[in-house]
Amino acid sequence: MEDLNKIPLTIFKEMKKEIDKINDLFCGNLTVDWEHVYRFAPDFFEAKVPNFIAYTENDWNLLSNLLTRIWYMAGIHTGDLVHVLTSEIDIRQRIFFQSLSQIGAITLNCMRQAMDAKRIMITIKHLKPPFFIGPPAMARAMINVCNFELNVDPAEYLKCYKTVIFTEKTLKEEHKEFFKEKGFLGEFFQFRHNDIASFFAIDCEQHQGLHIPEDFYIVEAVNPKTGEVMNEGEEGSLSITNLLFRATPQLRFTLSKEKIKILKDPCPCGRTTARIVYTK
Ligand SMILES: [Zn+2]
Repeated sequence: MEDLNKIPLTIFKEMKKEIDKINDLFCGNLTVDWEHVYRFAPDFFEAKVPNFIAYTENDWNLLSNLLTRIWYMAGIHTGDLVHVLTSEIDIRQRIFFQSLSQIGAITLNCMRQAMDAKRIMITIKHLKPPFFIGPPAMARAMINVCNFELNVDPAEYLKCYKTVIFTEKTLKEEHKEFFKEKGFLGEFFQFRHNDIASFFAIDCEQHQGLHIPEDFYIVEAVNPKTGEVMNEGEEGSLSITNLLFRATPQLRFTLSKEKIKILKDPCPCGRTTARIVYTK
């Protein structure tokens, strides 16, 4: 860990600024020959040059294995019906299906576009999937379709979900309350996913912070301005070093806006890995 501290932070905000200047599609992060790239996908399109993230076949399979552990923590087991809303064009989201089929879960796949919301609601009315994995924006679209097109109480349809896992954004307490009020009555899990750092984490049934898969990542809470590493329980920005991924590894990839603290005491669930608690 002392050696890691000698490596400067990679500030995401700065990385975004660099991409147009250095004109490298991988922002200088591709560390394998092209023949070893198994899958790749772009990120932050607001720049003139998109930034690509790549995976070797081994990277991809490692991530899929990690996700099986994550879904299992959220209570997904063999034979469970899981409703997954993804973007068809984002190749990375196929890893959701790969990992869920590794568990033996059955997936109900739907596109995550607002125009699909009506079709989705009619589908869940009949199939009643107990697990929801999808972005909060789609959850809102589904609520709106019930209220304004189908003229039914959204809870009538949404009550089938016993477990709700929102992708893309980390769930804040007030968001959870909003969605519960609108009819998502199930247990919410806090899920964090960052494509560039190939990072995944989820909380457990105790909901006392996201368990860090410490065999995959080193996670630090840092001061992005000074580079100082915070102590256990002190607030800092989320910084991720991915240990295993070969194609586009990240060293101390720092999301300045994500304020967290790291807890290292054993969780009441019995797991001993450190946990991330969001403070903002
Ligand atoms: Zn736990």
